[in-house]
Amino acid sequence: MIAAGSTIGIIGGGQLGRMLAMAAARLGYRTVILEPQADCPAAQVANEQIVAAYDDPDALERLAELSDVITYEFENVPVDAAETLNESTPVFPPPEALKVSQDRVTEKRFLNKAGIPTAQWRIVENEGDLEAALLAFEGKGILKTRRFGYDGKGQVKFSGAKGEDAKAGFAAIGSVPAILEGLVDFTREISVIAARDEAGNIRIYDIAENVHRDGILATSTVPVSVSSTIAGLAADSARKLLEALNYVGVLGMEFFVLANGTLLANEFAPRVHNSGHWTEAACAVSQFEQHIRAVAGLPLGDTRRHSDCVMENLIGDDVAKLPAILAESGAVVHLYGKADARPGRKMGHVTRITKRL
Ligand code: AMP
Repeated sequence: MIAAGSTIGIIGGGQLGRMLAMAAARLGYRTVILEPQADCPAAQVANEQIVAAYDDPDALERLAELSDVITYEFENVPVDAAETLNESTPVFPPPEALKVSQDRVTEKRFLNKAGIPTAQWRIVENEGDLEAALLAFEGKGILKTRRFGYDGKGQVKFSGAKGEDAKAGFAAIGSVPAILEGLVDFTREISVIAARDEAGNIRIYDIAENVHRDGILATSTVPVSVSSTIAGLAADSARKLLEALNYVGVLGMEFFVLANGTLLANEFAPRVHNSGHWTEAACAVSQFEQHIRAVAGLPLGDTRRHSDCVMENLIGDDVAKLPAILAESGAVVHLYGKADARPGRKMGHVTRITKRL
């Protein structure tokens, strides 16, 4: 356990880092952020920022010196950097989790090996691979870059319509190593936020139902409208994954629910997750505090929900609605301290309590 007053290093300075730093402060910890962009959302509420690239050797040395434990808020932290840091200062979640989640092929293999079903998938290295994979999947699928995809970026959908061109599709994602996933005809998307501590204790929040717009999460609703069997399957998958990764911290895992009751994992993120922001308003211990507790070696907190709620992301110009939202009762607002409300940019979120339990 690290004592109150110790310092937690956070790699990445976005809104997730910001909310982690705020949770850390509430538990008496100091935070230092490694992020190349000065005055980033996380640094605005942290004790210190190292303004440097995530793989800058001097910056990493400084981060290790200042920190008693190090964590991260995004999954594209260079694995080498995390492994180097881990030699002198504990890094949680384990760098292995980064390695697995950074590449969609490694991720799918790991999930399948852990007994967690996913959509069918094929490796795509070139146009020929894509043509063959599309043939195997009856022309339908989603082509995704293996690395550095987020919020639906680097993806091309093939719906089986005439005239869809594998060549153009591969070019559209930049002709980089990719994966073709079978097109899942899902009825709902759900996610689970789960935590594990070093001793292996696991705590799982209630499942959320997610709606995406333009590939970006729009809303998360709790409780879900799926059966308790499906919700139980999602929680079991998270448990399997946490154990297979010997994980410490919070992770988010997304799933597709099919009409026939099948549950397929889409992907996981080795960090706190946008679809878990509702926990801040509807649980005694939020996902952010839970993550800080796990990485600091404190006992994990209660994940029970005290209210039903809907979390809505405030994207781009949505922030203009703020005065009206603030006038609502039961609306918990969180803004990220970003100056420009560009289209598609997550500026904040609001969680509306719909019912107290
Ligand atoms: P991802 O970047 O993998 O989270 O994908 C973003 C969104 O695209 C998902 O939340 C789904 O709405 C949709 N999507 C991703 N993969 C598939 C798939 N294999 N089949 C159908 N829809 C998908």
